[in-house]
Amino acid sequence: VSSTGTERHGQNGTGADAIVPTSCAICGPDAAASQMYAANFSLADFTPTLFSARRLPDRIHFRMVRCDRCGLVRSDPVLRADVLAALYSQSTFDYGEELPNLRRTYRRYISRLRRLDDEQDALLEIGCGNGFVLEEAVALGYRRVAGVEPSSDAIQRADPMIRGQIVVDVMRNGLFQPRSFDAICLFQTFDHLPDPAAILDMCRTTLRDGGLLLLLNHDVNAFSARILGERSPIVDIEHTYLFSPKTMRELVEKQCFTVTAQGAVRNTVSVRYLTQLFPLPPGMKQMAGGLIDRARLGRLNLTLPLGNQYLIARNG
Ligand SMILES: [Zn+2]
Repeated sequence: VSSTGTERHGQNGTGADAIVPTSCAICGPDAAASQMYAANFSLADFTPTLFSARRLPDRIHFRMVRCDRCGLVRSDPVLRADVLAALYSQSTFDYGEELPNLRRTYRRYISRLRRLDDEQDALLEIGCGNGFVLEEAVALGYRRVAGVEPSSDAIQRADPMIRGQIVVDVMRNGLFQPRSFDAICLFQTFDHLPDPAAILDMCRTTLRDGGLLLLLNHDVNAFSARILGERSPIVDIEHTYLFSPKTMRELVEKQCFTVTAQGAVRNTVSVRYLTQLFPLPPGMKQMAGGLIDRARLGRLNLTLPLGNQYLIARNG
């Protein structure tokens, strides 16, 4: 099923010229890298569906490499940034039944931000989807919230109170006034970015001095990722970089932030969703789902580490 042939084109006219090499976001283009997993896609796979949030994992990924110098894991080569942005702008958004639990989880990290500094008024979220985190931020006391999100489908699903605060775009220079926010957060967005160092630089200029940055995303060194290897759902075509606590900290510090907190995320999830996450064959998955439904356990919620990490850093 592996093909990089020029004769194959995706629905968006994705040709071989749309594939570009990457370099380590920490060490730059001079650092060598070693292959972890070979690519397993064909160019025909590049459709907006593939880049839609919360779709079930299909284990399609680019070639994955690890930097020999710092250990940062990345896809190489990847889609050109403009092609990627076009796919995300057409992608659809469906959080499904787990949205209330995502709210519970992310709300805990927004309130942790607030506890660090109660002088905060304005919060920006990059990759805000339908804006549910912005709703939580308002409920927690932020008086001004804003979001950036490339998927217009996601924004159409936003609460009317929030929709006007969301810019349909990818984060770029000039979207917001310098030093106009007290906090910037990225939930499951940082590892999708084609150039995370450039986005951190934009965060630095968009935050006031002493403003707070919150990143929450996968941990490539988490237990689940290490035992599943290439079968882990995080080895995915949507992820340009996969960070460990060490590489995430290094990149953030290189961009002149001071890390103030870092750790494993405890996600609140339903038992039903948890069974969907396991890499079981479809038949077994259905059987497990049936058993759980009969035992009326599906809607039971658990809060546990699921292989995500968070980092909070201060500007300056
Ligand atoms: Zn490196």
